[in-house]
Amino acid sequence: MSEATAVDVAQLLRENGLHATAQRVGVLRAVSEHPHATADEIVVAVRDRIGAISRQSVYDALAALTERRLIRRFQPAGSSARYEDRVGDNHHHLICRSCHVVVDVDCAVGEAPCLTAADDAGYELDEAEVVFWGTCPPCLATATTT
Ligand SMILES: [Zn+2]
Ligand SMILES: [Zn+2]
Ligand SMILES: [Zn+2]
Repeated sequence: MSEATAVDVAQLLRENGLHATAQRVGVLRAVSEHPHATADEIVVAVRDRIGAISRQSVYDALAALTERRLIRRFQPAGSSARYEDRVGDNHHHLICRSCHVVVDVDCAVGEAPCLTAADDAGYELDEAEVVFWGTCPPCLATATTT
């Protein structure tokens, strides 16, 4: 959605039953342009784009967008919550323990196999939150050269 215009974004909001306020449009575009950003990073990005907006307005917009599943919120252990607009594919994340960079990784092979639990206990499953922790290549290179 990185090429999405404000008009497209406003349309998407309305289709999902939300008023297309400047704040929500700004927040959704900021999330789209900064995948895996924290709320505080999104505040900065939205202010760059639309000027003054309160922190609380950004938090409110993030909550409304998350509730409508226009964005996905995830919170790695030891980190602030992060947001992204890549929704609906149950993809997972690789996170570097050293520099905390976050990278998308598709669900193992096929159509969201993680959603097929060994025993679903009768639940209708819609998400499996999987985080792979490790060390990213740049951090590995630094560790071996110093
Ligand atoms: Zn790293
Ligand atoms: Zn992601
Ligand atoms: Zn998976």
